[in-house]
Amino acid sequence: MICNNSDIQNKIIDGRLIARNIESSISEKVIKLKQSGIVPAIAVILVGEDPASVVYVRNKERAAQRCGILSKKDIYPESLTEKELINKIEELNNDPLIHGILVQLPLPSHIGEKKITEAINPSKDVDGFHPLNVGKIFTENAPFYPCTPYGILKMLDYYDIPVKGKNCVIIGQSNIVGKPLAVMLMNRLAAVSSLNIFTKDVKSIASKADVLISATGKAHLIDDGYVKDGAVVIDVGIANIGGKICGDVNFDKVINKVSKITPVPGGVGPLTVAVLMENTVKSAMGRLQK
Ligand code: NAD
Repeated sequence: MICNNSDIQNKIIDGRLIARNIESSISEKVIKLKQSGIVPAIAVILVGEDPASVVYVRNKERAAQRCGILSKKDIYPESLTEKELINKIEELNNDPLIHGILVQLPLPSHIGEKKITEAINPSKDVDGFHPLNVGKIFTENAPFYPCTPYGILKMLDYYDIPVKGKNCVIIGQSNIVGKPLAVMLMNRLAAVSSLNIFTKDVKSIASKADVLISATGKAHLIDDGYVKDGAVVIDVGIANIGGKICGDVNFDKVINKVSKITPVPGGVGPLTVAVLMENTVKSAMGRLQK
């Protein structure tokens, strides 16, 4: 069956709409915090001038502004040493007016991402990447869940898409998306397959998924051969082809088969940013309770 325009609209998971809803509820909490004398604040550190990172940092700053969150941007040259960066993070750890610290990845190759992630105080780790917080995903008591996987769960919830007992396939096993998402879906009693570049016959495994999530960064990897009829497809990938942003999924090739799909742009990306803001406000509210 070929979809018409209204069929396509009904299949779209509108990440911008869900993000707007989250941001408006954050804004209300921010007003209350400010009335109690707390201005929620996030520090965003950018090292170097990676063009994609510059755009991501700008998007985060704009979202913070929309929510009334103070955003402090620290930009350092590529030549910053690992020790210097750790010292900067330490200053922010000790600053009572900062509630969230985010170091934009990737970092220049002379700086170890693992060391930097571990340098952030877990109580200000609004990205949810600190190993202590990652471990707490298993026991479902993390103070902050990683933004992209948590944003994906929020999308599924918004559209009432259950995962309990469903066959969920995740292509991509990174520490920031694929691995934590696998555990978070297991926590919801899904049957989860986690695939990577060395997995044999990715297409055959993917084509049995009720919910297929792709996070590889390989533009248009996923065509109709990877998708079961009626599947929900979540496209995390971001690639730039000739100046145009696209995802892992070849939207036009799969749209007739899916029941729901995230577009790129306008799908997972806005949710990632909204959850970051939510985590920052959660951290600030924790201050209120102290
Ligand atoms: P990564 O590069 O760290 O990991 C990619 C993973 O995909 C690896 O596990 C790799 O083995 C796997 N992979 C690559 N090609 C594959 C293939 N052909 N078959 C099976 N597995 C394959 O990536 P990441 O940091 O998780 O990011 C993945 C993509 O998601 C990137 O495009 C990134 O820009 C995007 N991203 C988007 C958001 C968002 O908010 N929308 C957030 C984070 C990452």
